Amino acid sequence: MKTLIPAVILVLVSTVTASLTFSQDAGGSMIQWEQFEGSFGSLVIRCSETSYVSEDPEWGVVLATIYPDSNGVFPTSVQIPAAFVVDPDKCIACSICINQCPTDAITGDIDGKAVIDPGLCIACGICSNVCPVDAIFAPSSVLHYGLFGVDDEGIEEFIQGSVQ
Ligand code: SF4
Ligand code: SF4
Repeated sequence: MKTLIPAVILVLVSTVTASLTFSQDAGGSMIQWEQFEGSFGSLVIRCSETSYVSEDPEWGVVLATIYPDSNGVFPTSVQIPAAFVVDPDKCIACSICINQCPTDAITGDIDGKAVIDPGLCIACGICSNVCPVDAIFAPSSVLHYGLFGVDDEGIEEFIQGSVQ
């Protein structure tokens, strides 16, 4: 009698999650990511004080916006200047940091919220110390970083995040 041997198909499921890497040197921070599928008009890097959880991302400030080259190809890294950053969701537009900055690197936006020019910031940390609501911070390895694709309607889609 002929024995039928069922074919066994092995499906290898990769458990490796594509992720960002964050590193720092004297010139600032370098964020690198892996190649990804998808078509976007631009990319943004956001940071978060909480680790990435798919159901509740809590992503915050945009640290960088990245555009493709003339061939539509995105880079796989971005340099973040060694400068402090304002979280506009926390800023109460009190102007204290604007008045304290020794290099006049901080201005107020149309709502009076602080905006730091990374080209003028010398990363002295004074603004972060005087802010009454802890709205100013420096990108560091204790934060988490996420890469998002932005479509033509400005809708963001999470692509990759840093993993601790
Ligand atoms: S870190 Fe110093 S130089 Fe940079 S914005 Fe704040 S106060 Fe100004
Ligand atoms: S000190 Fe803080 S709250 Fe006040 S303007 Fe600056 S960032 Fe905003």
